[in-house]
Amino acid sequence: MAIHKTKAIVLETKDYRETSYLLKLFTFDFGKINAQAKGARRKIGKFGTNFLLMSYNEIVFYENNVSDLHIISQADMLQHFGNIGGCLEKFTYAAYFLELVNTVMLVGEKNKEIFVLLLQFLNFLDAGCGLEQIRYIFEIKFLKISGFKPYFDCCVSCGENIAEKSKFSYVFGGLLCKNCFGKDFAAQHIMEGTIASVNYIEQMDLSKFNNFKITLSIRKQLEQILGSFIGFYLGRKFKSLSFLSEIRGSYV
Ligand SMILES: [Zn+2]
Repeated sequence: MAIHKTKAIVLETKDYRETSYLLKLFTFDFGKINAQAKGARRKIGKFGTNFLLMSYNEIVFYENNVSDLHIISQADMLQHFGNIGGCLEKFTYAAYFLELVNTVMLVGEKNKEIFVLLLQFLNFLDAGCGLEQIRYIFEIKFLKISGFKPYFDCCVSCGENIAEKSKFSYVFGGLLCKNCFGKDFAAQHIMEGTIASVNYIEQMDLSKFNNFKITLSIRKQLEQILGSFIGFYLGRKFKSLSFLSEIRGSYV
């Protein structure tokens, strides 16, 4: 049985039997893994962490050769993002980011860039940075890194450059030029500012995160298009996202 040490973010935690946890962890070196923390609920101090949702830990685990459920032998908490839990909006964003990573990433699929992105955005939330823009910036970066990015470079159907009005097609997963509007009658008008913002954010260095501002109308369109696109492609509604629109609906 091989033994490994890595950094891990807790994506999901469930009580298991009398004393243990079943965990889904997103690790730096091994991608998403399933793991069991035996006795973690019974013996206080057995592990240097209580495996809270979204916490960032250093773990040592035994690799299971028979199933994909590994056994954690040691763990220490590195960060628990205490400011997120105290704010409903921050917590809901964090839950959505975790849910997105948990849904898209397959067990054993390694992606260090996604790990770094998730950790960075948990830190932004913990510090209370840019709550009005955090969701769509995470979505655009995440879609790009994970290879689900909508096609915004030119017309997804004919390849022509987008010179004037265009529409966004969920079915085609990108922009349609004027000549191709007839290919998808459900396609939705999209503002030039929205297209420019997506292209900018894709390349944007995250050190500029705090200073990035866009108008309310573009922000609303970005959230609507990206939210629907993600729901359409993953074939599911995100519980955290529905809750988010409810709590934000009151003041946006
Ligand atoms: Zn076209």
